[in-house]
Amino acid sequence: MNKIINNFLMGLTFSQDFSKILDEYKRNQHMTKEELDKLKKNKLNNIMNIAKDNIPYYKDTLNQRKELNINDFPILDKNVLSNHAMKFIYKTPLPWQMSRKSSGSSGKITKIYLNRYIYGHYLVSFWRGLSWYDVNPGDRGISLFGKVNSAIMSIIKSFKDKFTNNMRLFYYKLTDNEINDIIHFITDYKPKFLFGYPSLLYRIAKAIKISNKNVLPNNLKVIVTTGENLYEFQRVLIQSVFGCKVSEEYGCTELGTVGFECPEGNIHFSVDNVFIETINNDKYPEQSGEIVATQLNNTLMPIIRYKNGDIGKISETSCKCGITLPIIHVLGRKIEEIITEKGISFPKIVFNNIYNNIQQGTSHIPDFRILQNSLKNYTVVIYKDKLISDIEIKNLQESIVNIMGKNTKIDFKLTDELDLDISGKLNLYSHS
Ligand SMILES: [Zn+2]
Repeated sequence: MNKIINNFLMGLTFSQDFSKILDEYKRNQHMTKEELDKLKKNKLNNIMNIAKDNIPYYKDTLNQRKELNINDFPILDKNVLSNHAMKFIYKTPLPWQMSRKSSGSSGKITKIYLNRYIYGHYLVSFWRGLSWYDVNPGDRGISLFGKVNSAIMSIIKSFKDKFTNNMRLFYYKLTDNEINDIIHFITDYKPKFLFGYPSLLYRIAKAIKISNKNVLPNNLKVIVTTGENLYEFQRVLIQSVFGCKVSEEYGCTELGTVGFECPEGNIHFSVDNVFIETINNDKYPEQSGEIVATQLNNTLMPIIRYKNGDIGKISETSCKCGITLPIIHVLGRKIEEIITEKGISFPKIVFNNIYNNIQQGTSHIPDFRILQNSLKNYTVVIYKDKLISDIEIKNLQESIVNIMGKNTKIDFKLTDELDLDISGKLNLYSHS
């Protein structure tokens, strides 16, 4: 009975086929390599043919081809997609046509058109991932995100949330009061999963640890992070405070969920939702490269060979968890590449090294951001909250100097205000 109610609730949001798609995806996760290759090939051919026959952006150049190859399609980036969005759909969308909005660094909004059935595919890998932690549709969850602008939107969202048991909380500046409100809500609502940016979940975990109160419910099965690099120090603290696993979801608005981390710590990518290539250009080590992805289910607005700005690699090694979907390793975003005298690195590696280097016995680690001004010139901004001692700040400073190198010029600045971006993210590293 429960399953019928849950399917009905999910159907209200996605489509009546949602549970069917989810069952299909759960079967796919145990396929042999040959079966997965066949699935991938069929879905890829289907979307390439739809694009060739119907989509203005491709029609003129490709419709004479009999045999299509993925390399026949040009690589797209966010600019192409947002400047020519209407050329990626075969008829003018109706005003009420469902869409997802994605905002670029330039602030320009790209609309991705879909319908409820396609939207189901965009999200179903997320629910498949949750099932690895015994969380299923209809189970209670809380998603935490940056502010929502319109009052009407927030009413619609909260109405929808009650139906699906997935409460979305929006925060503004992450003041201590806001964090306390979130903690109270989690305590009262008793969710099975939490979903949000790692920087936010880390701050909540830190606030709970500092308050020394045992306020948390024990229903939590998993904490899912998204949207930012997840650093090892964040994972360690969040896991120890909430007493459950942290899992990284990898995806974007244009493509939906691309991958989900299993209990063994590998991100399995969804070959049933996305086809992935990595373009190396002799620049990146060990078969890693720029991720170029093709959305396999959006037949309304085919997105083929989309460069989402991430660097990563695909691995076919088997995972102890028993899931046969390939593994994707994401190193970081191309715009976050740290160019040092030693070569290319990424914040994930640098920050993890700094934290590993901090002396044992430090009870608190201050939040900090690194701004790179030039090859050898950095500013490190440290957020000094009231519980961080001068010794802890000194330890952090020494660790940063050790990792970045003695010849590097580092200016340290103390501040007591967080610097969130418009969507509520906290980027720990940026170029000036
Ligand atoms: Zn696994």
